[in-house]
Amino acid sequence: MENAETSYRALTDSFGRQHTYLRISLTERCNLRCTYCMPEEGVELRSKAEMLSFEEILRLAHLFAREGVTKIRLTGGEPLIRRDLAYLVGKLSAISGITSIAVTTNGLLLVAQIDALKEAGVSLFNISLDTLREDRFKEITRRRGLDKVLDAIDATFRAGYEVVKVNCVVQRGVNDDELLDFVALTKELPYEIRFIEFMPFGGNAWDNDLFLSYEDMLSTVQTAHPDLVRVDDEPHYTSKTWRVPGYRGKVGFISSMSDHFCSSCNRLRLTADGNLKVCLFGNAEVSLRDMMREGKTDEQLLQVIAAAVGNKAAAHAGMLNLAQMDNRPMILIGG
Ligand code: SAM
Ligand code: SF4
Repeated sequence: MENAETSYRALTDSFGRQHTYLRISLTERCNLRCTYCMPEEGVELRSKAEMLSFEEILRLAHLFAREGVTKIRLTGGEPLIRRDLAYLVGKLSAISGITSIAVTTNGLLLVAQIDALKEAGVSLFNISLDTLREDRFKEITRRRGLDKVLDAIDATFRAGYEVVKVNCVVQRGVNDDELLDFVALTKELPYEIRFIEFMPFGGNAWDNDLFLSYEDMLSTVQTAHPDLVRVDDEPHYTSKTWRVPGYRGKVGFISSMSDHFCSSCNRLRLTADGNLKVCLFGNAEVSLRDMMREGKTDEQLLQVIAAAVGNKAAAHAGMLNLAQMDNRPMILIGG
């Protein structure tokens, strides 16, 4: 058996970044059609047989945990669409070394599943919500459902979660006039609102005119709340977090484009069809699914994983270059 020092090396890249956080996409399907995530014409879905099975996900999760991963996030597509999700969470949370399982969801199916997911071991939910207005919700997601998302947030607090993180992708001229409404939510309840810079991906019609930077968002919030204070962020935290004095919750900004956090990146991604992606904005991928289905051993898998991690670039190519680059649509990567 390898000792910890040897094995951790497999997930340490040539810049010394140790990868302890694995984001697993469970499906390419979704019950919303967010404009910033999916091309208008939809995406070509692969067959169920091409998706990783639970057994394959668990095999990889064990392997990554053995190599130093401590935190798993389940995402998609919409992860709550995946049948028997609570079963999978239960198995993942039982893996030695895994200390946290987070789920990113649009919330539409959460009320019915929250108790089972909590019981199975979900430590944190990020619920995506870009607007508090029903008409706008329909424009952004191309579906209805604001009430269901708000119910999901309530249910998460009621289930006893100390914080509910809300992911809000901010686009200029689309929802930037709601920044202060979201900040107001943090007054009474321990929300952590995370304002996310709009990122370019395959087929999402990213446009510089729609882009609103962290600096601009912060300035709007600071104008209304001049006493806003910066909160200490945890290591590897992608959000720059602030708080209005006296408010229970926090407000964070995810500046992936204007001020990236690549130098402290500790994330790896597994797509629903089993490709390892070492960078959200890189198009280098390797199919771990194919290797598993060809009967490769854990050690053979690990060699390929180590080589992919070793080749991870120091930083992404920059917003305007990324907008020109071939990459999967976000829905096929897993956010
Ligand atoms: N369906 C789930 C949800 O919406 O929470 C999980 C998958 S979704 C791809 C994960 C996160 O990525 C969401 O919070 C979404 O807002 C974010 N996202 C998708 N496309 C994005 C983009 N172009 N720029 C920034 N964030 C994006
Ligand atoms: Fe679906 Fe989430 Fe993408 Fe919206 S952001 S289309 S909810 S996967």
